[in-house]
Amino acid sequence: MKKTISKIKNLSNPDKQGYYGDFGGAFIPEMLYPNVEELRSNYLKIIATKKFKSDFKALLADYVGRPTPLYFSKNLSAKYGAKIFLKREDLCHTGAHKINNTVGQVLVAQHLGKKRIIAETGAGQHGVATATVCALMGLECIVYMGEKDIERQAPNVARMKMLGATVVPATSGSKTLKDATNEAIRDWINHPDDTHYIIGSVVGPHPYPDMVARFQSVISKEIKKQLKKCTGKNLPTHVIACVGGGSNAAGAFYHFINEPKVKLISVEAAGCGINSGKSAATSQLGTPGILHGSKSLLMQTADGQVVEPHSISAGLDYPGIGPMHANLYKSGRAIFMSATDEEALAAAFELSKTEGIIPALETAHALVVLKDIPFKKTDSVVICLSGRGDKDLATYMDHL
Ligand SMILES: *Cc1c(COP(=O)(O)O)cnc(C)c1O
Repeated sequence: MKKTISKIKNLSNPDKQGYYGDFGGAFIPEMLYPNVEELRSNYLKIIATKKFKSDFKALLADYVGRPTPLYFSKNLSAKYGAKIFLKREDLCHTGAHKINNTVGQVLVAQHLGKKRIIAETGAGQHGVATATVCALMGLECIVYMGEKDIERQAPNVARMKMLGATVVPATSGSKTLKDATNEAIRDWINHPDDTHYIIGSVVGPHPYPDMVARFQSVISKEIKKQLKKCTGKNLPTHVIACVGGGSNAAGAFYHFINEPKVKLISVEAAGCGINSGKSAATSQLGTPGILHGSKSLLMQTADGQVVEPHSISAGLDYPGIGPMHANLYKSGRAIFMSATDEEALAAAFELSKTEGIIPALETAHALVVLKDIPFKKTDSVVICLSGRGDKDLATYMDHL
C-alpha cells in the first residue's frame, strides 16, 4: 500500500458534504432538496437515539435472523489452499443482505412520520425486502422495477405482490435498474411530504450512501467477533464481495477499511467480457460523472450519455458504483476484479455441488476470483455470501 491508510481521508465515512475523496455529494433537482435535506439533517440524530438502536437491534435479531453464521467451508478451503469462510447473508429473512438496510430505513421513515414508502429494485431482492418491512409496519409500499427485470425475476415480483406492494414497471431506456431508479426519483419529487424513498444500495445523494453503509456494517461487526472465535484473531487477511451498487461490500468491508493488513477485494460483473461492450465493470470502464444524485464512476459515452450495462445478474446490472467504492478504487485501498456471466454461472454450480449452498447469481461473482488470488495456507478469507439463489432458478435451469 503506497499511501498509508490514515492519510487517505474519508474511506469509510464521508465528510459533512457527503464526499468520500472526490466522490459523493448530493446532486439533486431543486424540487427534491427539501426531502433530501430533511433526511440529511436528521439521520445521524435518529440512528443515535436509544429507541432506534433498540428497535433496530431487536428486529435484526428476531425478524431478520442475525447474527448470520460465519461458516468455515472445508471443501473450498482444501481446493484453494486457504481458510475460507462464508458470511451467510443468504440466510437472512427474504434471502439476502438487503433487509438489513430496509429495516434501518423503515425505522428512520417512522421517526420522520412518513406513511408511504417507495423503492427501486433490480433483481427484486430490495423490492421484496422493502415490501416485507412495509407489511410488518403497516406502511403503503410502491416498488419501481424495470420491465425487463420483471420478466427475468418473476418469483420476486409475485412475492412483492403477495406482501401487499404495488409493483410499477419502468418502461424507459434499458428497462432495468437504472430506469427504475429514475422513476422512483420522479415519484419522490411528486410526493415530497408523506413519502420516504428507500434506496437499496450505497448509491444516491448524500446521506444515502453513508446511511446504507452504516446499516449494512453489522455484517463486518459480526465477522470480527465470529472470526475471533474461530481463529483467535479478529482480522481476516482477505474480504471478498461482489459489487453492484456496493452495499453488501460496504457492509462486509466497513470495520476493516481502516485496517491496512486486511485486503479488500471487490468483484464486478464483466458480463460477456470487459471489452465486449456488454459489461457492468464500472470501476474499470467508468469515468467520473453524476448518476442518481452523486458523483462517482459510471459507464458513459464521451458526451456523458449513460452506457447500458449488461450482466446475467439483475442485481449487478447497474452502470455506476457507490461513491465509497469509487474512492476505494481510486485510492487503491480495495482491489477491483471482475467475473464474466459464464464464470459466475460455473461458480454457482460449483458452490452448490461442493457445499450444498445455491448462491444468488450476484454472489457467485465473488466466488469466481478465488482461483485468481495466490493465497497462503494460513490466510483467512471471508467471502460475503450476499444472497441465495432461489430467485435465479430459471436462469440456472437453462444451464443445467
Ligand atoms: C442486490 C444484490 C447485490 C448487489 O447489490 P450491492 O448493493 O452491490 O450489494 C448482490 N447480491 C445480492 C444477493 C443482491 O440481492
